[in-house]
Amino acid sequence: MKTLLVTGGAGFIGSNFVHLILKQLQDIQIIVLDKLTYAGNLDSLLDAEGDPRYTFVHGDICDAELVTRLFKKQQPLAIVHFAAESHVDRSIDGPAEFIQTNINGTFTLLEAVRHYLADSEDEVKSRFRFLHVSTDEVYGSLGPIGYFTEETPYAPNSPYSASKASSDHLVRAYYHTYGLPVLMTNCSNNYGPYQFPEKLIPLMLLNALEGKALPVYGTGQNVRDWLYVEDHCTAILQVLEKGTPGEKYNIGGHNEKTNLDIVHTLCDILDFKKPRADGKSYREQITFVKDRPGHDMRYAINASKIKKELGWIPSEAFETGIVKTIDWYLNNLDWCHRITDGNYHRKRLGNLE
Ligand code: NAD
Repeated sequence: MKTLLVTGGAGFIGSNFVHLILKQLQDIQIIVLDKLTYAGNLDSLLDAEGDPRYTFVHGDICDAELVTRLFKKQQPLAIVHFAAESHVDRSIDGPAEFIQTNINGTFTLLEAVRHYLADSEDEVKSRFRFLHVSTDEVYGSLGPIGYFTEETPYAPNSPYSASKASSDHLVRAYYHTYGLPVLMTNCSNNYGPYQFPEKLIPLMLLNALEGKALPVYGTGQNVRDWLYVEDHCTAILQVLEKGTPGEKYNIGGHNEKTNLDIVHTLCDILDFKKPRADGKSYREQITFVKDRPGHDMRYAINASKIKKELGWIPSEAFETGIVKTIDWYLNNLDWCHRITDGNYHRKRLGNLE
């Protein structure tokens, strides 16, 4: 029986990953370690509750004593590290949490793994993997052409991406200095079920349904490459099972869209599925607001390495993934209301005013 430690498993991508693993792998024990910040919710893991293969531990990845104890007790064969502060706008308002969790937290896990492996049997030493989940935002901003490859130099522009870049460097250093069997993935923007409604797609969807403004930053021409979250999770599983220690893999969806394209698509699908009472289009609710400070213009991923070396390609087209996502939110509005529990009101963050 293989034991897998998943940090941040109550968040958006982490909870999707837990669901995928429980569906695909029988011979597995999953331990989720999560602090349950505003972005982490046990409601996202309700389907796993009661499954004997799943255990939840409430705790902070920065708590060295807890993390060390967890490794000793559970003897995992791998860690998939999702836990992070993940919202760029929040990193503009309050970067300290990002430095703490994303840098110090990753450092705490690396140290715990280093000591755990030093005391482990040779078989664990040779099979163990530390998979660090990172973002394409570490590469900075692209002009109208070109793609991020694994060799693109780091040039982070927000406190969020700078903290993720720092954690990537630490992970890399632990491979070169201590021989830790690390793997790293840098992925583009994810969308799909269980995303906290501060991020573009669920935020716009809920605002649209409530007749609120749909605030598009700047002119809405910033481009992101969108990947359906389940595709990201299958890529992570492949990297975990077949990736080469010390290597990093870019993951992308081949779906470059401007933010305005995304909002238009969302409005058009809602016009069809949930028409406004006055018969007008949800596009009428779009408003253009002051741009995000340091807003990167374009991200685009060259994902040929993971395709060539591990055979992974995304299976969901944006056109189908967005419909699935909208259907999921329309069927799970009570989840949205439960997880926002009165603290978050979809107000503008990171405006520096
Ligand atoms: P999320 O904000 O939805 O979830 C983060 C989870 O981490 C939450 O459950 C939260 O409670 C937990 N957490 C935060 N601080 C913690 C701490 N100190 N100790 C333990 N748990 C803590 O994030 P997400 O969108 O699911 O992203 C997961 C990872 O993937 C992050 O590392 C992020 O940088 C990376 N990533 C995200 C995207 C994206 O589009 N969402 C794209 C590429 C990479």
